Amino acid sequence: MRLETDHITKTFKGTTALKEVSISLEPGIWYLVGPNGSGKSTLLGIIMGLLDADSGRIFVDGKELVGNLDPFLIRVGYLPQFPRFYGNYTVVEFLRYLALLRKLEKDSAEEQIKSLLERLNLVEKKQAKIRTLSGGMKRRLGIAGAFLGDPELVILDEPSAGLDPLERVRFVRLLEEEKKERIILIATHMISEIEEQGASCLFLKKGSLILNGSIEALVAEGAMESMKEAYIRLYSEGIAMKEEQGDAGEETKNI
Ligand code: ADP
Ligand code: MG
Repeated sequence: MRLETDHITKTFKGTTALKEVSISLEPGIWYLVGPNGSGKSTLLGIIMGLLDADSGRIFVDGKELVGNLDPFLIRVGYLPQFPRFYGNYTVVEFLRYLALLRKLEKDSAEEQIKSLLERLNLVEKKQAKIRTLSGGMKRRLGIAGAFLGDPELVILDEPSAGLDPLERVRFVRLLEEEKKERIILIATHMISEIEEQGASCLFLKKGSLILNGSIEALVAEGAMESMKEAYIRLYSEGIAMKEEQGDAGEETKNI
């Protein structure tokens, strides 16, 4: 799949959430980077058809996305930033329910569910009711759901929030295994997570796309020495911020 947005603009009662955002994505890993409020979730919501843009267009494989979105959505897996689950479903029931919605064949669905549960370390929780899971487990279940059915486009909104370091390693491995065949678009404000070789970054600042390129290209261009440095340079806005202090602030907020 090839996914393009063409000058997407969105305002909420006077707040401009997105300003003429144009991106063009091919299979591979893409990070949508920016601080809270920079418009990441809004852009993902518009791509998913959950929000209407004020102006701008979306193209899928060169064709404008208009009218019935179902043929597009069946090709997409989406983990919202704040997913809602049915608490009384078990882990495996939830994934079977998703498989049904995605119109997967039963045998293939069972095989994929088994593999995703293994790769996301949820086998032991297979029969647990969702309401008994920890935040990180729910997030992993949401990630499993987003990859179920081999979608050509996987959209993950803050997927590693709440994952411990080991789970994060597992998640990165999953990305590495899955990236060849599909576009994986990941919204994050956690720059420490951006380490995949060959991944590209789209930097949003107050709704505008301010920088776009592969991590290697950005480093080669001298735009930055590290992601951390780039982030601070792009977003600190003149605040005298020592790197360590900057990070400490970020960590404290997450406690
Ligand atoms: P991010 O995901 O990067 O944290 P969002 O896309 O959630 O950013 O938000 C972008 C901007 O739009 C913020 O200023 C936010 O307050 C505003 N916004 C988002 N959703 C709504 C909404 N439903 N109503 C009003 N303002 C909103
Ligand atoms: Mg968000």
